[in-house]
Amino acid sequence: MTDRSLLVLPGDGIGPEVMAEVRKIIDWYGTARGITFDVTEDLVGGCAYDAHGTPLTDATMAKAQEVDAVLLGAVGGPKYDKLDFSVKPERGLLRLRKEMDLFANLRPAQCFDALADFSSLKKDVVAGLDIMIVRELTSGVYFGEPRGIIEEGNERVGINTQRYTESEIDRVARSAFELAMKRNKKLCSMEKANVMESGVLWREVVTEVGKDYPEVELSHMYADAGAMQLTRWPKQFDVIVTDNLFGDLLSDLAAMLTGSLGMLPSASLGAPMANGRPKALYEPVHGSAPDIAGQGKANPIACILSFAMALRYSFDLGDEADRLEKAVEKVLADGKRTADLLGEEGVTPLSTAEMGDAVVEAL
Ligand code: ATP
Ligand code: MG
Repeated sequence: MTDRSLLVLPGDGIGPEVMAEVRKIIDWYGTARGITFDVTEDLVGGCAYDAHGTPLTDATMAKAQEVDAVLLGAVGGPKYDKLDFSVKPERGLLRLRKEMDLFANLRPAQCFDALADFSSLKKDVVAGLDIMIVRELTSGVYFGEPRGIIEEGNERVGINTQRYTESEIDRVARSAFELAMKRNKKLCSMEKANVMESGVLWREVVTEVGKDYPEVELSHMYADAGAMQLTRWPKQFDVIVTDNLFGDLLSDLAAMLTGSLGMLPSASLGAPMANGRPKALYEPVHGSAPDIAGQGKANPIACILSFAMALRYSFDLGDEADRLEKAVEKVLADGKRTADLLGEEGVTPLSTAEMGDAVVEAL
């Protein structure tokens, strides 16, 4: 019995296809490195609805609460479009995020040299880029009350409230500082303290939390200036922490500095569990991609890199995460590409399974 427990939820569409490649890598760690995982595989999303009439059973939810990490493929697909809102595949994922209280969403923007031409920016701006955006995920303007559309005089008014409590800021700031400690000890916090009260409080609390992390170099930036700096010279950053709305915009912007949807991993972290590890869910940024599902065309790298994040953040295996990322880098440097990474004709793309095999071989 190992103390590394992992719940694998392949889900729908290309989810099972890309997850099958991650399973090869998990197996490789066991046989080649003696690093074993106690893996349970289960259903989430449309496939869970088909089997149980719900996109996430209570049993699967309970299992997710108790493991060290959950690794998810993707959920949803056209087959489920007409389902009632309460049982839609996406509700399975939302329930996981909500009940695990995953308040810190980590989105890396990492540019593999071999793909630097893919960026809309100049190659020297993005080559070697490796930054991480931490987005607060459970509060802010997405949830603040009051909200709604009201009548006022002879017109309607749309209202949302940006609201952050000290404890909400404190916990996401701590996640970001912990992350900075595992990386390059550099953190930039972004808000709009010049025009927003929540931003004033955000800056105050982040500064206060920073006193517990004297080794981390903390800076603050207004989010609009941050967006500009991210496109001008992104390598000036290492970890960025920001609120839900700014994080939504900035993480999409940062991710697209670097290339294809098929390459982007993510992690969502919650509070530390009894063993000190944070509750965690890892998943590729992409969805179930019904247009290519079942054809062996999907790029498994986003899911593979999500597992690398799990190695680093849930299992304290940073060196092994580096090893896996280097293997991906080598495969790309060797010119191996799935279809989504190819523009030109005449090059034969690798299938999902061939890409997974190539990464295992590089390992
Ligand atoms: P969701 O609503 O679930 O986020 P989406 O509408 O954002 O889904 P995706 O499922 O992410 O859409 O797919 C968007 C496009 O990117 C599709 O054309 C899909 O084929 C392509 N795509 C997504 N993931 C991959 C992948 N891993 N490999 C290759 N192509 C992909
Ligand atoms: Mg999407």
